[in-house]
Amino acid sequence: MKLFFTTLYLCLFSIIFSQENNKNIGPISEIDTLIIQENIGAFYIPERIDNLIDVPAYELYLFWDTLNFNPYKTNIEFLNTNYIIDLQYDKFTFPVRSNNVSSKFGWRNKKFHTGIDISLKNGDTVFSIMEGKVRFCGYYKGYGNVVVIRHSNGLESVYAHLSKIFVKNNKYVESNFPIGLGGSSGKTTGPHLHFELRFLGIPIDPLEIIDTENMDILTTFLIINKDFLKTKYKPLQYKNSQSPEFYIVKKGDNLFKIARKFNTNVDTLLKINKLNSKTILRINQKIRIK
Ligand SMILES: [Zn+2]
Repeated sequence: MKLFFTTLYLCLFSIIFSQENNKNIGPISEIDTLIIQENIGAFYIPERIDNLIDVPAYELYLFWDTLNFNPYKTNIEFLNTNYIIDLQYDKFTFPVRSNNVSSKFGWRNKKFHTGIDISLKNGDTVFSIMEGKVRFCGYYKGYGNVVVIRHSNGLESVYAHLSKIFVKNNKYVESNFPIGLGGSSGKTTGPHLHFELRFLGIPIDPLEIIDTENMDILTTFLIINKDFLKTKYKPLQYKNSQSPEFYIVKKGDNLFKIARKFNTNVDTLLKINKLNSKTILRINQKIRIK
């Protein structure tokens, strides 16, 4: 099997070298798609591929997409390897010159916060944390003006809510390179840097590897595998807990009693069951409680 894929890689590289001068070498072949599937369990056909030879962590991702913020659609269940992320391959730079983390990674008002928020003043410079290549930049939904940098160790760093972007797609940046100015573009209540670290598109907690107090890296390497992502990246579990749950009405029940029993309120029950306040419950009626 290994020999088979090595042969495929060689074929792929010979194709790439033969088209070296042509920057847009897509559409991607069936062989490429097969290797991507084998690698990250994702079915994905990139719309455009730029200059594959210079792509950081190409062996891991096998494609380069400058059009989509998160093109990976990685299925965590397919990740059967321990990925060792080298965190000392380059000098680390804290993304801003102050280190006040105002909001952490994780649940926040029933929504999962996929990064950390670092306080800054409007117009403060934002720096690349390590060397890498700009994979995506521009305006993206709640992120506002955002820059995504792919690093050679396989991580991607995300810098959001910028007021100005200094870099362009495919630009190689050193650690400490000024990539833009902080601000409050996108969905924010005030200026701050929303900073994320992603692996194959899956957000991981930046505080797993960054020591904010010393504005430095916390550890020399990080092992990422299925279990790590499952325990750290909670939205998967949240989805399950949010699936509808039902209760069968018993004698003597009313909406108020049921609401109290399941820690909810009558209005919510009326809404999710599409009932009005005059409805009389029947015994054995199935009521959605979540
Ligand atoms: Zn944030």
